[in-house]
Amino acid sequence: MLERNGGSRHTGAVQRFVRCEADGKICYAELTDNRVELFSAAPWNGGTPTGVRHDLADTRLLCPLNPSKILGIGRNYGAHAREMGAAPPQTPLVFMKPPSALASPGELLRLPKVSQRVDYEGELGVVIGNRARYVPREQAMDHVFGLITTCDVTARDLQKSDGQWTRAKGFDGFCPVASSITTGLAPTPLQLTTRVNGEIKQQANTSDMLFDIPQLIEFVSQVMTLEPGDLILTGTPEGVGPMSSGDVVEVSIEGLQPLTFRVADA
Ligand code: MG
Repeated sequence: MLERNGGSRHTGAVQRFVRCEADGKICYAELTDNRVELFSAAPWNGGTPTGVRHDLADTRLLCPLNPSKILGIGRNYGAHAREMGAAPPQTPLVFMKPPSALASPGELLRLPKVSQRVDYEGELGVVIGNRARYVPREQAMDHVFGLITTCDVTARDLQKSDGQWTRAKGFDGFCPVASSITTGLAPTPLQLTTRVNGEIKQQANTSDMLFDIPQLIEFVSQVMTLEPGDLILTGTPEGVGPMSSGDVVEVSIEGLQPLTFRVADA
């Protein structure tokens, strides 16, 4: 259970889950030190430990989730809304990214030829653990499986010219995620830092969100049923900026596996 009195950041056992290819099979697995234990299915779909273990070095890590949908939240930090010249939203601003935007660990971020400006947006990702439909905020954390470091890559010029965001946010590879999901950690307060080529570009705390995770789950679950394994990107803080071919982007969030990716031309 989530401790709501601010004392502990832990909501249960801290575990890390990956998806990997081992012995020619693709499996979800729990990662402990440098070993993985394979699961019978995704842990949010009732998967259990199989007792089969491998050295991490003998596996190939894959994108650790396979969601039915990815929700994004726009302008969920006041300072970022201001840097975009926008007023903070009165209700959560929801958009979608297609699951085809997910990238596997180590995959290059390819800059699309049709955009002249592609930005990083370091963000905390929330992975749903139990189906959520009309969930009140007081019960929302019971529907969270875990947390993951993400980047909501955005073609800023297309976002402005199109007026809606599907193309700007939806290119293949525009949702790189860390190689593991962490359970048992409260989503706030966690320090979030984005670096490009080692230089700090974004630095904020998840407690600065305008709408917190329970409010987001309550709001989104009034619109569409959230399924186990679905991903919510909870918005980016101020300091967004463009990426160029050759850049190395690192998003780190306290307690979570960091996300690192390299940028390349199309
Ligand atoms: Mg974003």
